[in-house]
Amino acid sequence: MKTNETLQERLKKIPGVDKILECAKTDPFFQDLPKSVLLRSVRSVVDDLRKGILENDTSTSEALLAEIAVLEQVKTHISIAMAPNLKPVVNATGVVIHTNLGRSLLSRESIENLLLIAGKYSNLEFDLAEGRRGSRYTAVEDLLCEISGAESAMVVNNNAGAVFLSLETIARGKKVIVSRGELVEIGGSFRIPDVMSKSGAILKEVGTTNRTHFHDYEQAIEIDTGLLLKVHTSNYRIVGFRADVSLEELVSLGRKCHIPVMEDLGSGTFVDFSEYGMDKEPLVQESVRAGADVVTFSGDKLLGGPQAGIIVGKKEAIDSIKKNPVNRALRIDKLTLAALESTLRHYRDPEKAMRAIPTLRMLTLPIDQIEKQAIRLLKRLEKIDDPRLRTQLLNCPSKAGGGSLPLLELPSKCIGVTISSVSANHIDRFMRDATPPVIGRIENDVFIIDLRTVQDDDLPFIESAFRNLLDKASL
Ligand SMILES: *Cc1c(COP(=O)(O)O)cnc(C)c1O
Repeated sequence: MKTNETLQERLKKIPGVDKILECAKTDPFFQDLPKSVLLRSVRSVVDDLRKGILENDTSTSEALLAEIAVLEQVKTHISIAMAPNLKPVVNATGVVIHTNLGRSLLSRESIENLLLIAGKYSNLEFDLAEGRRGSRYTAVEDLLCEISGAESAMVVNNNAGAVFLSLETIARGKKVIVSRGELVEIGGSFRIPDVMSKSGAILKEVGTTNRTHFHDYEQAIEIDTGLLLKVHTSNYRIVGFRADVSLEELVSLGRKCHIPVMEDLGSGTFVDFSEYGMDKEPLVQESVRAGADVVTFSGDKLLGGPQAGIIVGKKEAIDSIKKNPVNRALRIDKLTLAALESTLRHYRDPEKAMRAIPTLRMLTLPIDQIEKQAIRLLKRLEKIDDPRLRTQLLNCPSKAGGGSLPLLELPSKCIGVTISSVSANHIDRFMRDATPPVIGRIENDVFIIDLRTVQDDDLPFIESAFRNLLDKASL
């Protein structure tokens, strides 16, 4: 134990804030820096040094207290403070619609349109023909109707918002009949029963987890039933002894009893994935054709556009949703709208859409193309020519992600990397610290890079991240 006196003496050795600011004046590193950032960083470093001494932290050595050393710590602090928090990463996970990594990449056309609208005034809510206020939905409404076959359409911030808004408009204070097998929870605490109670609708569960029949719905209908709801079980499947009621049957029941029918598709798609050797995901066009009054789906899942919630269906229902004052709190912004419009335009030619929209392209990437990409990376890593670095080309399954196609395992190619005397955990950690960060996964103590989701211009970054790691590891 040190005595109080020596503690005081040590504390006195920390250079004062003014002194450090004075030193900073002559160092070009600190030129053009916001004063507030400099001051915050200096204070924070000084505070940390004080804390270190008070807690008798042995790493707070005498050398760290020298002015030069303190200035270096301030520089590190500032570099972190000035770097953007939201930054691009290399997705080497093979999960195409990775919610934590931003779900869908936009097509080139979508990005160009977004940039154009971002820097200019636009006719966002202005009717150019009439010279007066127009509707925000004009940019996408006709396109959505054209592609889906619906009478009417609108868009909000995301699909969670679309579900909430639709329930709030149609079923507030009324009962909503849902099959027990469809009471889904998706990631990020979105649960159908919770959203429903927040919207003021009253959940009426019918059937069982694995089997729900037409007569279950029929018998549950009461005078205060306001909606029949079907929810796509996006992220799980019930297999084996199961039964559910088709949307067509629900629509026929709804018509008979004058009750509207809604379907939450979660991940909406205009493309039939079964034609590409994958499981079938329900098509928006089919739900519209089945006669649902309201169909909701995401803009950034299988659709491959920006985050948005799309609502299509019968004019009467959509009109009342548009008029709901809550809509204002969920409204889509102009940048999203610009990107969404361009994404939707691709779907006029589905063949082209498969190539232009990155999510669709990555999901349907032929295995030989992924292998070519893997070999390109392999060659780059071999070029590093370090005997500690060992790489192998492996077969692996990649996933659709985003709660879509949950059972699907897309055959893919990956590179497994090991480095002698460096653990896979350490590699993983280091790669996440790289610029840009490389997000892979660990399997059996091997760091795995799945090439399905690695973009062409990511390859040099992966190479340089490994070079840096090997340089560091040699110290
Ligand atoms: C993903 C999903 C949602 C939420 O969509 P977001 O666009 O993420 O808000 C709602 N319902 C289902 C069934 C989903 O799969």
